[in-house]
Amino acid sequence: MIDVDSFLICARQIFGDGFIPLHRPIFEGNERRYLTDCIDSNFVSSVGEKVNVFEEQVAQFVGAKYAVATMNGTAALHLALELAGVKAGEEVISQALTFVATCNAISYIKAKAVFLDVDIDTMGLSPIALENFLNTYADQRDEGTFNKLSGNRLAACVPMHTFGIPCRINEIKDICTKWGINLVEDAAESLGSYVGSAHTGTFGRIGTLSFNGNKVITTGGGGMIITNDSSIASQAKHLSTTAKTPHPYEFRHNEIGYNYRLPNLNAALGCAQMENLHKILEIKKEVSDRWRVFFSNQEAKFIEPLAGTQTNYWLNAVLLNSKSERDIFLRKTNEAGVMTRPAWELMHSLPMFKTCIKDSLKNSKWLHDRLVNVPSSVPNL
Ligand SMILES: *Cc1c(COP(=O)(O)O)cnc(C)c1O
Repeated sequence: MIDVDSFLICARQIFGDGFIPLHRPIFEGNERRYLTDCIDSNFVSSVGEKVNVFEEQVAQFVGAKYAVATMNGTAALHLALELAGVKAGEEVISQALTFVATCNAISYIKAKAVFLDVDIDTMGLSPIALENFLNTYADQRDEGTFNKLSGNRLAACVPMHTFGIPCRINEIKDICTKWGINLVEDAAESLGSYVGSAHTGTFGRIGTLSFNGNKVITTGGGGMIITNDSSIASQAKHLSTTAKTPHPYEFRHNEIGYNYRLPNLNAALGCAQMENLHKILEIKKEVSDRWRVFFSNQEAKFIEPLAGTQTNYWLNAVLLNSKSERDIFLRKTNEAGVMTRPAWELMHSLPMFKTCIKDSLKNSKWLHDRLVNVPSSVPNL
């Protein structure tokens, strides 16, 4: 049984007095200056220099050739799936242990999510579960890979790097390549996480990031498509800007597009946040080190990244002994003003995804019953 009193003392030592949120943003760089620049320039909407600068900063940081900014991470995923060629009625493989945005984006296309299990150590899509599913149900034809049972095309696979901890993306990539399935990486939680020397989100044809208020860095709301494919990048830019054909003054649109481009105001925040990203990641590592030491003396398992991978320490996670212990811990810590959180309800149990195809989800359920996220913000820069 975890000692709640010493947990609260440790939380206070790291984060100080008052309510301790799970994750708060930190604005101690050029945020105010860039916002003012933006207002002074009159370019507050989606046309403006800051958006381009922010895209270049992110592309450079993750080592991708192109980055296209969107108004949130869900919009980035929606566009990414559309650009990966996913059509209505087709199936997209993902994990049941994820934030609902992953599955919402799949649903916007009117595609169907297929929920497979996660690995117990990475909490990300299990390559074994993926291989088992494909070996059992997939049929590779000239027009693509189809689900033998439903008859639908298996159009894409969307693994997610849970809480910033990289999943077995190399193995997943090999399986997707073998079966001819598009790999779209939901790297919303893993800016600053690597597998070997490659940044998460750069393994598939398209990856997506989020800059929501609780992520490692924030633009208020924001997202990004990252890719090395110039045609995907230019289509992403076109579709996210109402599919307007370039012209100095005429207004003409050549397909149904979206108003998904990140506003300049939000990008201004992003430019300043990117300047501090290395520092933020360093301090998040220190916070994580403190929790690791604390939990090493407790009956709880602190979740660590696999050897050869690097996490961004977005949200620290521990596994308690049982669901009942988890529930007591959640209640006592939240009552004491130290925010802790269980994993998201598994996607297959939500009303709108109840009828989706799924496997046993054994590890997902086991993790869901025991997992708790503990406060992981940067205390002070
Ligand atoms: C945050 C997040 C997103 C994108 O969310 P937005 O709030 O739309 O930026 C997508 N997938 C996962 C797993 C996330 O955590």
